[in-house]
Amino acid sequence: MSLIKLKNVSKFYNNNNNISSGFNKINLTLDCGEFVIITGESGSGKSTLLNVISGLDSYEEGEMYINDEETSHYSEEDYETYRRKYIGNIFQNFNLINSYTVYQNIELVYLLNGFKKSQIKKEVMSLIETVGLQKYKNTKVSKLSGGQKQRVAIARVLAKDTPIIVADEPTGSLDQKNAKSTIELLHKISKDKLVVIVTHNYEQVEEYATRKITMSDGKIIEDKKIVKVDKEKAIETPYGNITLNNKINLGFRNSFNILTKFLLITAVYLFLVISTFSQYSNLRKIDYDQDAIGYNTYFSDISPNRIVINKKDRTTFTKEEIEYIANLNNVESLEENDALIDSQFSMSNDDVYFYGNISDTKSITSNYSGNLPTNDYEVLIEASSYDYYLSSYGESLIGKKISFTDDISTYINSEFTITGIKYIDNENIFYSSGDCTFYFNDNMIKKLSNLSSMRYSNIYLEINDKKLKSEDMYFTIKTSNNLKKGETYLFSSANSICKDFDCNNENIKLSVNDIYYEKSVTLKVKDIITKDNSYRLVQEKKYENVEDILFISLDDYNELFIHDTYQISIYLKDTLKSNATLKELDEKGYNTIYMRDVLVNELETIMGVLQIFRTIVFIISSIALFFISYFIIKLILKSRNIYYSTIRILGASKSDASSILRIELLLDLNIAFWGFIAFILLVNFGIVNSSYISEIIKYFKLFDYLIIYIILNVISLLISNRYANKLFKSSVMNTYREEV
Ligand code: ADP
Ligand code: MG
Repeated sequence: MSLIKLKNVSKFYNNNNNISSGFNKINLTLDCGEFVIITGESGSGKSTLLNVISGLDSYEEGEMYINDEETSHYSEEDYETYRRKYIGNIFQNFNLINSYTVYQNIELVYLLNGFKKSQIKKEVMSLIETVGLQKYKNTKVSKLSGGQKQRVAIARVLAKDTPIIVADEPTGSLDQKNAKSTIELLHKISKDKLVVIVTHNYEQVEEYATRKITMSDGKIIEDKKIVKVDKEKAIETPYGNITLNNKINLGFRNSFNILTKFLLITAVYLFLVISTFSQYSNLRKIDYDQDAIGYNTYFSDISPNRIVINKKDRTTFTKEEIEYIANLNNVESLEENDALIDSQFSMSNDDVYFYGNISDTKSITSNYSGNLPTNDYEVLIEASSYDYYLSSYGESLIGKKISFTDDISTYINSEFTITGIKYIDNENIFYSSGDCTFYFNDNMIKKLSNLSSMRYSNIYLEINDKKLKSEDMYFTIKTSNNLKKGETYLFSSANSICKDFDCNNENIKLSVNDIYYEKSVTLKVKDIITKDNSYRLVQEKKYENVEDILFISLDDYNELFIHDTYQISIYLKDTLKSNATLKELDEKGYNTIYMRDVLVNELETIMGVLQIFRTIVFIISSIALFFISYFIIKLILKSRNIYYSTIRILGASKSDASSILRIELLLDLNIAFWGFIAFILLVNFGIVNSSYISEIIKYFKLFDYLIIYIILNVISLLISNRYANKLFKSSVMNTYREEV
């Protein structure tokens, strides 16, 4: 039974295929109770031997036994456990955390081993007393002398309380007096332990040594037992694993502990936060601009010279504004009833069927047969000369009746008289999906226009706290002269929603909203309309199917649906000069969508493709930001690498060290993020002025902030993972060496 046994162990260093030997075929057995001194000239392999024994470095040949267990199968984790439970290291250059105080350096060992901060105060204080540094407990170790530093290192080893203490030239940087007291201290704590000390100065330690080993050229040339010791069984340190709480504690401490580092990292993260916000707001801005115009994916008239316009403040156009726009240099015509341009209607009778747009008679040129419509229920039909019905029936249609056959017919079910027809071979027809144009007088156009925008609105009916959407219920709204303002006939299918299945005399709320406005009226249910009473109530036989019609008064109808113009369209004379017009409109406070920019048959598809494209750009720029931030943070953290190798020497596992780093960086990121959010709030409440932030506020919803927050945290996690992976790739000693 022995604590450590080496059998023909060799260590080679491989630097860029330059293989050199650290030591060669060493045979050695070490046990508890021994105070072993290793001497030998510089370069003879003493440090290498200590590092291999400590599990800080690998060996390439032979067998090493720990407590009689062969270690060739040891994984990284096994070595981590071994270091934590068996090894206390002391180095010539102390290897302390310089930015920590004396107290924190010693406390660190306990925290890494899962003790609670509050539990260990007494132990830490008594260790500080043991090494005589009470006066310096709150001093940063960077301010201490060499002798004092080594005493902190010894206190740290004591805190670890491991069966093996390994000291590599512990007195190398100390003067005579400090060297002596350090060795005495080491001897004092060595009872029942295995102490291995490498030194040039054998006389200093002679009086305590139980064994002297001399090395030369990678070999042991002398191994002399001076005092016979009784073998003792090693007692493993019974420590637990670092707790999440301690990781957070250390992560926080490390964040703030070096002010310049903290400020630099937070600055980098602030850059990352602001860049991500900018990139993301670009993405949102375009969505927003499109949403700012009603039914944008429904443009059916995508003539390349058309511009759809609304006001940035989403109020209605005044007469003066409409006049101003109509008189702009490059404007050919202006359409106030914008909703009609993109609406398609169908009209038919027993013989013919036509499908297309609606227009007022102003825009009709001559070359029509018959007359223009002058009365409300008259229509002139324009269609291609290739249209089947028009070419078949021709002028014989004039004087015939025709009516709407699409959903508008619910509102306008009267018959129209055809007053004229017109053949057309206009190439512009190419741009419309409908084939023909129906011309009406101005009054009918106004009526159809309002009905049309009603089709694009959301209509809700609230009965007894239940909200019904017209689309889901398929109810439509009609006026009846028998109703006064504030009264309604409710369709019978909604009757069951009320108490006792009877809505009579209940108040219901009818509301309408779209992107421009919101309105509602409260209505008292005068009666429930059924097939049986429909004739009596609304006097029209045609309502045989009244299950889905809500009747209201004309006054209420006008209040809800008749409104001024929120959106207009203009047509340009010269599309090449569009930029000047668009710029002028923008400066005067108008949103615009220029059809030429979106001129593709499948508008929705192109929007989707553009959105995907923009999203890809966003992702690529996020990746670029990740790399930029990573490289800067890597540079800043370089001075911290020694911290991470030190805590690993103290027994922290790779994953523990990684999570401490993760927490540190996440904290820095969150400080940058919430700092920025605080700034946004200041702008939001008008305390600070920033047009850049105002834009963000305009485009962002809570959801967007959430998305950005997640993206940023993920980026920060990726940065710390990448950094940790690189840092902890090689053995602890390699990492350490690279940095010292
Ligand atoms: P000592 O501690 O006795 O002065 P070392 O153990 O440091 O000796 O070095 C033993 C041998 O290993 C020397 O020849 C040295 O050059 C070599 N060596 C030590 N560290 C490295 C390293 N990281 N890479 C390559 N060779 C090394
Ligand atoms: Mg050495």
